[in-house]
Amino acid sequence: MSGDCIFCKIAKGEFGTKFIYEDKDLLAFHDINPQAPVHVLIISRNHISRINQLDDSNPDLAGKMILTANKVARNEKISKAGYRLVFNCGPDGGQEVEHIHLHLLGGRQMSWPPG
Ligand code: AMP
Ligand code: ZN
Repeated sequence: MSGDCIFCKIAKGEFGTKFIYEDKDLLAFHDINPQAPVHVLIISRNHISRINQLDDSNPDLAGKMILTANKVARNEKISKAGYRLVFNCGPDGGQEVEHIHLHLLGGRQMSWPPG
């Protein structure tokens, strides 16, 4: 837990957020401001601020997050049509919440380049 981190509070159940997936390391829930018909966040239970904070002490976490996103995508029935996975990192990456999370976006055609 880190101070006022909103995702740490969500992980502790402080907002009564409905988790659509959970295990000992990760949680997934719907984004409060969805940018696509399916917009799910996969977060670490532990406070890690950014993807670039991962190091040899947690080599499996990002892989687990991606496998979990794939599982959620199957449950959300967007697996066949496809989807986008996004880690925003730091200010230029557009990261607003400083707690590691993976966006799963789907249910519509994505465009490229991203904004
Ligand atoms: P990022 O810009 O990559 O840091 O993404 C943070 C995401 O967290 C945004 O898409 C927000 O809409 C989402 N978010 C912020 N607060 C909440 C909340 N309480 N519950 C669900 N999603 C949230
Ligand atoms: Zn946190």
